Amino acid sequence: MIYINTKDATEQVNFRQATINGLAKKGGLYVPQTIPSLDKKWIDNIENLPDHEIGFHVMRQLIDPESLTDNQLKEIVSETLSFDIPVVDLGNRTNVLELFHGPTLAFKDVGARFMSRCLGQFSNEEEVNVLVATSGDTGSAVASGFFGVEGVKVTILFPKGKVSNFQEYQMSSLGHNIKAVEVEGTFDDCQALVKQAFRDKDLNKKYNLSSANSINVARLLPQCLYYFLAYKQMKQRGLANELVISVPSGNFGNITAGILAKKMGLPIKRFVAANNANDTFYQYIQTGNWKTKPSVQTFSNAMDVGAPSNFDRIRHFYNGNYDQLSQEIKAYTYSDEDTLTKMKSYYQASEYVLDPHGAVGLLALDADLSPSEQGIFLATAHPKKFESVVIQAIPDYPIQEVNLNGCKKSEIANDYKAFVAEIG
Ligand SMILES: *Cc1c(COP(=O)(O)O)cnc(C)c1O
Repeated sequence: MIYINTKDATEQVNFRQATINGLAKKGGLYVPQTIPSLDKKWIDNIENLPDHEIGFHVMRQLIDPESLTDNQLKEIVSETLSFDIPVVDLGNRTNVLELFHGPTLAFKDVGARFMSRCLGQFSNEEEVNVLVATSGDTGSAVASGFFGVEGVKVTILFPKGKVSNFQEYQMSSLGHNIKAVEVEGTFDDCQALVKQAFRDKDLNKKYNLSSANSINVARLLPQCLYYFLAYKQMKQRGLANELVISVPSGNFGNITAGILAKKMGLPIKRFVAANNANDTFYQYIQTGNWKTKPSVQTFSNAMDVGAPSNFDRIRHFYNGNYDQLSQEIKAYTYSDEDTLTKMKSYYQASEYVLDPHGAVGLLALDADLSPSEQGIFLATAHPKKFESVVIQAIPDYPIQEVNLNGCKKSEIANDYKAFVAEIG
């Protein structure tokens, strides 16, 4: 499998190189040159296959054997799919794909675990330094995914006072090859520092820098797998004929992986992109114009993205054909008030606790689902990761005490030199 740059199809690399590079030249993203097509017989028999076999088969189509051998890929897949990924039937043709049973309780565990193990394989000769800026969830997943991976050191930048105690604990309690750095500034400041480091040629040479950002193919591709696993479970129940999947979306990596699964032949009827007030994609579906804007803060803050990077990949998969794209991907946008109301009413009706991201996903699914269809929304994080929002909707939700004693973080000003001193 060859990966090409969305901005320049003459840039062609294998999976290994695409993973190491992260971003393609001229700010482009890597995409498969051609989308592999899965055998229909294989898909029709999917309910009889073990999860790790599905995972290996799908990833083998996307990753060339020069980058990872069969045995390496099998091992990475089985270490990635090491926790439950259940589809729970909530009644009324509504199902939830719970992606929060991994070590840091969010779907990003899947991509982070897969990518860390790939980089571990690829960094044989030289130590790699991974830099990542986070508003919370990415940092936790990357910390857990890369913890103990030989040859890789990780520096995580997070904005002071803007992540939950639980997230801070997940980033700063591990130590060893994981360093948490608290920046006096916003998420955008953290991101700007990391971007500056990647532009710094001397620094790159000295530290062999790499990014664990969600634009990396090694984080994106394994996210296809849970769409296959969800389909398998629905097929076992005889309910897979007309599936509509709603994805709470921020940077649009998660839904891009779903669209790739569909393009590979997975029979998903339609995707629904669920936005909070950061509605750039929704506006695009309404108007056909792509107009990014600054992000605004919401309750579902892992989706506070005004310029979703993965849009370039989605547009590439549809050859820029807006009509087809807007038929296969619907979009909705919801306010914080809508989100809270949904969390409250759904709990009262069903006792199911939604986190704010999942609630946005369910709102969009409810708006889009027709009577002949089965709907799945993605629960991207466990409610306890966002308990300060959850208790506003469900006052008796149990709050978990987090003890930050024994955790280690560096505290720095929003200053490039101070940041550089933390690397390595
Ligand atoms: C990262 C994240 C999202 C957004 O996913 P994208 O792939 O960026 O669209 C949604 N919910 C939660 C809980 C997240 O951590």
